Formats: sequence, structure tokens, C-alpha cells
Amino acid sequence: MGDLTRLSAAALAAALAAREVSAVEAVQAHLDRIAAVDGDVHAFLHVASDAALAAAAGIDAQRAGGEPLGPLAGVPIAIKDVLCTYDMPSTAGSRILEGWIPPYDATVVAKLRAAGLIPLGKTNMDEFAMGSSTEHSAYGPTHNPWDLARTPGGSGGGSAAALASFQAPLALGSDTGGSIRQPASVTGTVGVKPTYGAVSRYGAIALASSLDQVGPVTRTMLDAGLLHDVIGGHDPLDSTSLAESWPSMADAARRGAEGGILSGLKVGVVREIAGTGAGFQAGVRTLFEQSIGILAANGAEIIEVSAPSFEYAVAAYYLILPAEASSNLARMDSVRFGLRVQPSDGPMTVERAMSATRGAGFGAEVKRRIILGTYALSAGYYDAYYGSAQKVRTLIQRDFAAAFGVVDVLLSPSSPTTAFQLGSLVDDPLAMYLNDITTIPANLAGIPGASIPIGLAPEDGLPVGLQLLAPARADARLYEVGAAIETLLEDRWGGPLLAQAPALNTAKEA
Ligand code: GLN
Repeated sequence: MGDLTRLSAAALAAALAAREVSAVEAVQAHLDRIAAVDGDVHAFLHVASDAALAAAAGIDAQRAGGEPLGPLAGVPIAIKDVLCTYDMPSTAGSRILEGWIPPYDATVVAKLRAAGLIPLGKTNMDEFAMGSSTEHSAYGPTHNPWDLARTPGGSGGGSAAALASFQAPLALGSDTGGSIRQPASVTGTVGVKPTYGAVSRYGAIALASSLDQVGPVTRTMLDAGLLHDVIGGHDPLDSTSLAESWPSMADAARRGAEGGILSGLKVGVVREIAGTGAGFQAGVRTLFEQSIGILAANGAEIIEVSAPSFEYAVAAYYLILPAEASSNLARMDSVRFGLRVQPSDGPMTVERAMSATRGAGFGAEVKRRIILGTYALSAGYYDAYYGSAQKVRTLIQRDFAAAFGVVDVLLSPSSPTTAFQLGSLVDDPLAMYLNDITTIPANLAGIPGASIPIGLAPEDGLPVGLQLLAPARADARLYEVGAAIETLLEDRWGGPLLAQAPALNTAKEA
């Protein structure tokens, strides 16, 4: 059967269904890979070896007994540590939740288990999903498998790096301002942020509730569609969950991969984030323009559109997100969850315990955003800051509505640069924030977005991602067009981008 860790989730699922491999073998192959490379990559905060093998044995027994199983039954999956799991610690990358085991599963995790997927463990992330590099994790950074001196992006760098180093065939991420798409972009993997409300947020430790969305981290659009079909759909436990029925995203991806759908498709390129502005790396721009040329040669109609309010998107986001985060993180109060630090002197009161705990338990970036958000919401400043940011949010939604009045999908680079060096931006918050310029508008508008690998930048040989955006609720269109683009580009390269990465076979294997 060859190396099981190199298979796509779809191919592994097919081999499992045909009983060419067992779920125990599939899980063991990935546990072996984790043991071989994760010392270098540090994608995982927790590996649940025994539970994964036991769950896999259960699936194998069900299959042997002829029980009906879902399409991904027996396929291992890595879970971002922002998602609650009743049998594994859920720290959100924070010291304040170190060792905390929630009493329940996030809805998406419960759905995975019910569909027979096997959780391998929990992946590293920036603390409470605040960051673009995983360097804000309280447990140390994740390293990019393409070059261990670089970041895998963030906040979901652990999930993306696990996929890029073949430690898991599937993973879950969360995307508040780009935390699925930007790590996918800089690791040569695929990431999808669904429409806001398409996937349940119940049991996802909240960063900014009006922006957060859980989604698939994979190596192909079809794998993402298969996973989306498992985790998506209405959840009465999430009051913002959309109560509608959705078409199969996997079917949409399969249709797209068959080809033909690009002909006559109206593809918008957003001038403000097309890669020509300051901060965009030359190779990112070159590959983006090449991809647009390939789409045009295959019948797509390329139309330049303008979204003038995008200029204010990062500023608005860094008011709305801290405002919501400061409120959400108030629950980390030393009483109900995780860490409790005794005040070093004087009497023990609730306030003093809370202050000592939050002082010791939160990292610098989290404190920065709590302070920013509390200020933005304070009496006398609320209208000037939070109120203005909400108005910008409306303008951005209108820019998208105008663009989607003319085009079917929008394209931009997923991230302005390839993976940056660990340590290079961590002391410069503004530079780190500006990394999100391409991804943030979709969160402010609630629309779905994907990042698809489009090649390696000539100047550094590192992966570049294409961001594909579709109107709210048009997630199936995103998978259809995304799979079409992926297939077209892969035909040109002669296979998946990741297969071409010698650096992935990290030191231990060489
Ligand atoms: N990098 C962005 C931030 O720091 C995105 C975070 C996210 O999507 N969770 O806020």
C-alpha cells in the first residue's frame, strides 16, 4: 500500500472502505510519522495515541461486522486546540487553560467522532488564536516543515504544519481573521473558512464571536469538501448557526475537478489586495498573475473590481476583534476554568486571585488585545472606536455586495508574503497585523474563502497561496471553482505541490 501518510484523505478513505488497509494501520502510520518528525515541527500539543488506536480498532470491528460507516470512517484527524474535547486537554495555546479538560466536545468534534474519524491529538496555535505565526503560543512555536527556521503562519500553524509534514491527512482549524487561510498559504496546504454560521461554533473557545468560523485544513479541495460535509450544518447549540440545508461540498469539489466550469466564469480580481501594493513580495505577485493568466487561458473572464473600504479593514478588525475578545476572555476568571494563582501577598479575595491569575496566565499579545478592546468599549470612546469600526464593517460588506453583483468569485493572494522567519515579526505587532490584510475582509463580511497552493516563489522556493472568495452561502461554488483551479494547476506541475518539497522530509528522515 506504500506510505499511508502520503495519501489524500479521499484516497485513504477509499483504501479503508475497500479493506486494503485497516484503521489501526492508518492511525499507526500517522503516529509513527508524528514520533519521527514532530520533535522538529512541534505541530502537536497533545497526541492521543492510545485513544486513537482504540477508536480505530472500534471502526475496524464495525467495518468487519458490516455496519454502515460514513465516507471518512477510520481516517485520522488533528484538531486545533481551540476546540473543546472531553478526553483531551483544550488549552487554546494558553497557560491559563494548561491541562484543562472540558466536560464536553465541541459540536464539530462530536460530529467527527460520530462519522468515525479518529482524533490523533490537538494542534498548536497562537494563544486564544491571536497571531499569524504560532509564536504567541504559550507552549513554544510550530516550525514550518518547508524550512524549520520559518513560521507555519497562524494562528492555526499547528494544524497546517501537521498536514504539510504528513502527520495527519486532515485537520480542523478556526478562522477569525485568516487563521485557516494564511497558514495554508505559507505551508502549501488547503484551508477553507466557510460562510459565517455554516459550521457550528459551539465548543470553539471564543475569540471574536461575530468573526470566528471553524473549517477544514487539508491537502486538497476534495478532502476539504469531504470534511466540511461532516462538520457543517445547523446546530441548535449555536445561536448564529444557519438553519438551512446545504448541498454536498465534496460533490461540488468533484464536479469542479472534472473541468469545464471555468469557461465563462466571471472572476474578479480585487485591485486593493491584488498584490501590487506595498508589503507584497514580488514572487507572490508573479505567481498570482501567472495563475490569473492560466484561468483566462481556460476560458475564465477576468474582471478587475475595486473595494475601496478594504483600506480600513485591518484598522476596523483590530477594534472589533479586541472588543469582542476582551469580553469573551472575561470568563477566564480563575474561578471556573484552569489556572488559579494565589496573590503573592496580602489577603486572598476574588479580585486579587483573578488579577494574579490573569497576570500570570495570559501572554503579552492577549493582554495587549484585552487592553485595546476594553479601551475601545469604554464610556466616551465607544462610538469613536467600536462604533466607527462597525460602520467600516458595513462598508466592506457593501464593497463585496457590489463586486458579487458583477462577478461569480473573487481572487487575491492569500497572504502578502511567503513564510517569514521565526522571530522576525514577533516584536512588531503592527507588522504582524498587516499580514492579515488579504484575509480579514472575508471575516468582516461573513463570506466563505479558501486558500489553494499555486506554486513556489522564485526568490525563496516557498509556497504561495491563492485566495478564492465567494458570496455568503455559496460555499459549494467555492469548492467547485477551487477544485477546478487546483486540478488545472496540478496538471501543469505534474502533481500536488507538497509532493515536490524535499525539505518536508525533515532531518530525522534524511
Ligand atoms: N492573525 C489574525 C489575528 O491575529 C487572525 C486570527 C484568527 O483568525 N484567529 O487576529
